[in-house]
Amino acid sequence: MKTSFRGFITSSQLLGATSAACGLSFGLLGIIESQYYSPGSLAALMYGFGLYSVLGAFGGFLLALFFGGRYRIDHKAYLRFTCRLAIWPAAMFILAAGSYLVYRDAWNESLGSAGLTGWLLLLLVPVAALVWGFFANSFGHLVVSRPKGWAIGLVVIGLLGTAFASDFEKEWKIPDLKKEPDTTQSGPPVVFIVVDALRADVVDQKLTPNMYAFSKDAVVYRQAWSAASWTRPSVASIMTGRYPFRHRTIHKTDRLPSGLPTLADLLKKAGYVTLAAVTNVNLDPVFGLGRGFDTWAYFSDRPFLQAPPSARRLFIVEVYRLFRLKFFPGARDVKHYYAPGEKIVEQFQRFCSPLAKSQRQFFIYLHFMEHHDPYFAHPYSGEAVARVETPNPGLDRADELLNLYRQEVKHFDGLFAKLISYLKKGGLYDRALIVVTSDHGEEFADHGGFWHGTTLYQELVRVPLFIRFPNGVGAGSVFDEPVSLTDLMPTTLKVVNAQKQAGLDGQALSPTMAPSKRVIITEEDHQGCVLTAVRAGPYKLIRANADNPRKLEQLELYDLSVDHTESKNLVASETELGQELVRVMDSMANNTVDKSQDAAVKPEQVEIDSATQEQLRSLGYTE
Ligand SMILES: [Zn+2]
Repeated sequence: MKTSFRGFITSSQLLGATSAACGLSFGLLGIIESQYYSPGSLAALMYGFGLYSVLGAFGGFLLALFFGGRYRIDHKAYLRFTCRLAIWPAAMFILAAGSYLVYRDAWNESLGSAGLTGWLLLLLVPVAALVWGFFANSFGHLVVSRPKGWAIGLVVIGLLGTAFASDFEKEWKIPDLKKEPDTTQSGPPVVFIVVDALRADVVDQKLTPNMYAFSKDAVVYRQAWSAASWTRPSVASIMTGRYPFRHRTIHKTDRLPSGLPTLADLLKKAGYVTLAAVTNVNLDPVFGLGRGFDTWAYFSDRPFLQAPPSARRLFIVEVYRLFRLKFFPGARDVKHYYAPGEKIVEQFQRFCSPLAKSQRQFFIYLHFMEHHDPYFAHPYSGEAVARVETPNPGLDRADELLNLYRQEVKHFDGLFAKLISYLKKGGLYDRALIVVTSDHGEEFADHGGFWHGTTLYQELVRVPLFIRFPNGVGAGSVFDEPVSLTDLMPTTLKVVNAQKQAGLDGQALSPTMAPSKRVIITEEDHQGCVLTAVRAGPYKLIRANADNPRKLEQLELYDLSVDHTESKNLVASETELGQELVRVMDSMANNTVDKSQDAAVKPEQVEIDSATQEQLRSLGYTE
């Protein structure tokens, strides 16, 4: 039906035309903005166009409803009105969003205070708005011929685009097991279950009955140390059997150097199918820890408004997020911070039995985020405390935060029970090597702070470690000798009879023999705190950089056999012992196992894109 420009214009034509003009205009802005963050991303493009065009169409509709009455008859005025609606709200949007983006991306982050470039960029914003006005005029002309068709079509395409883009989520793909080459490898399946930020002292019969039951069926290491107190260096140590100063994956922008062999590399060489499902942004594929895995599925958080991760920084999404957090703090959703463990459990169930039936040897690494902040109340009520919004809680909030954390611990224990039941159903429980541990602990004002990553006290580096060796060999043994998570790689290689690796810091643990007595270390260079701790027998020495933001003493010495809470610093009274441990610490750093090998490992940095940056920020990883 052609619309005549003479005579009467119906109100539905007016509403349709203004909705369509405004929607098209905003949709195009959505495309431009989404490509500014994530160039080339189809999901971001569809989402940006979809969300903005629907919002624009809705806004245009409302404006026409309120202000359009007096234009109903005159077709010239009608055209003018429609065109203006395509121009002015969009131009105002450019002014608002553009100024915000310049402030956020240029001024605030890289240019410091108002540098010349910052001012020039800001001046560009009104110019862009004017240019927009010039072009956007055509949208009005475009839509007046078929106003309602355009409006309905635009909204439908917008909604479909948004919905489709929101669903761009990776499923965990199992390699085609039939196509894999046959192998004579006869080692057992290997399952690593790593739960982020789980303190060793909260795992007990009452709070975590399922994990406790598993520990009775496994070998328990009561003095296991993570190699660092935040995720990336700690997991890199698990995967390489080396301390952070040797794998050089220490800082926020570091990725695992390409020369280093990983556990997955070696198991793959030994004929294993290697699979991982992880939910911590520090394990995003860009950081290189997925090397050697056939499938490394990183399940991301879901930003607000169902945005795909590539479109999480859109102005509207950010405004909505700030609005929600400010006015509805009790209505949080775990998906906005990380992928809930249910997602991994569901995927694990999907292919646990095909894998078991395939007779292929496989290595599965699962990494859960439940104990990491934000700490959610359970059952989920939307109540939570997040590091990003509460970086320095008052010490009087320790009980409140610990209580929430314990609810998360209990909640995860239910998921853990499911994992174990799938392993049992698949006939894998008995024949597999099953490792359950955490990458570091968590602090609740034990030493005057919260969260993790800035100290090396026991609440942060002592982690649960339960290993069920194939056929339950050694089950029920409990060892108190200090061990390190760097031991997991050599232990696994030994159990699967893979070739032994030279130059590892870790040592193979045996299910039947106590770990050998040795000195172990853990380190940290995070958020301004450069720390090393060494453990020798009952003694622990921690060295900190001067002027560290946590205001830690430069040297602390504790006797853990009598001082579990590390409250009595012996460095002044036990001077000789302190000096001896400093020497041990320095000699470990200077005389590494294999100097030439270490020299070949060059640190590698990654450019972190804005979406990953934002995810890191939302979990409190700021620097
Ligand atoms: Zn972690």
